[in-house]
Amino acid sequence: MMAQVAIVGGGPAGLSTALFTEKNGLDTVVFDTDETWLHKAHLFNYLGIDSIDGTEFLEQAREQVDGFGVDRHQDEEVTDVERDGDGFRVVTDDDEYEADYVVLATGADRDLAEHLGCDFTDDDVVDANLSMETSVEDAYATGAMVRNQEWEAVISAGDGGAAALDILSKEKGEHFHDFDTPEDAD
Ligand SMILES: Cc1cc2nc3c(=O)[nH]c(=O)nc-3n(C[C@H](O)[C@H](O)[C@H](O)COP(=O)(O)OP(=O)(O)OC[C@H]3O[C@@H](n4cnc5c(N)ncnc54)[C@H](O)[C@@H]3O)c2cc1C
Repeated sequence: MMAQVAIVGGGPAGLSTALFTEKNGLDTVVFDTDETWLHKAHLFNYLGIDSIDGTEFLEQAREQVDGFGVDRHQDEEVTDVERDGDGFRVVTDDDEYEADYVVLATGADRDLAEHLGCDFTDDDVVDANLSMETSVEDAYATGAMVRNQEWEAVISAGDGGAAALDILSKEKGEHFHDFDTPEDAD
């Protein structure tokens, strides 16, 4: 099966990437094993939301990405990600997929990034630039895996959005903005 964007991890980082890429026309697949820390959290610090249980936030986020048509494979574990020509081969416990871009959003678990050959920093987190691209071209790392302890849901979601905008800019061939206006909501 072929996707333009394959995302490993369905916490705030992975779902945020998926929202942006699918919304803007890229075929996006998400794999998630539901071990997100959100299930342990209650959010009082997510800008724009007063107070929400982490699991409820996750349910709303899943519904939101599903509404845009993201191909979400819940409870399918990615066991390997490899370079394959210009793209990537993503192996799960169920199947194999090809993708042009891969976005790692596996929380504090950095094993897939290490196996793919991504550089790590001196702090032993995955080295990514401001657009969240790793040393492996077209492979992105987002959320807890690129940070040493400073973990917040809103930061992960921001990382996911940054990765998506970079992928979209590459695909569209110019700097891409996901700017909607009030008329879009009518
Ligand atoms: C007790 C506790 C309280 C917290 N309270 C707050 C708070 O008040 N406010 C706040 O902002 N943050 C809070 N956090 C932190 C917040 O939950 C994290 O910062 C956030 O969930 C990180 O998001 P992420 O998307 O980077 O990773 P995660 O949310 O951890 O998501 C990673 C996902 O990837 C999946 N995955 C991993 N490997 C694979 C694989 N190989 N194949 C498929 N899927 C895979 C996992 O199952 C998981 O669902 C709290 C955390 C804890 C533990």
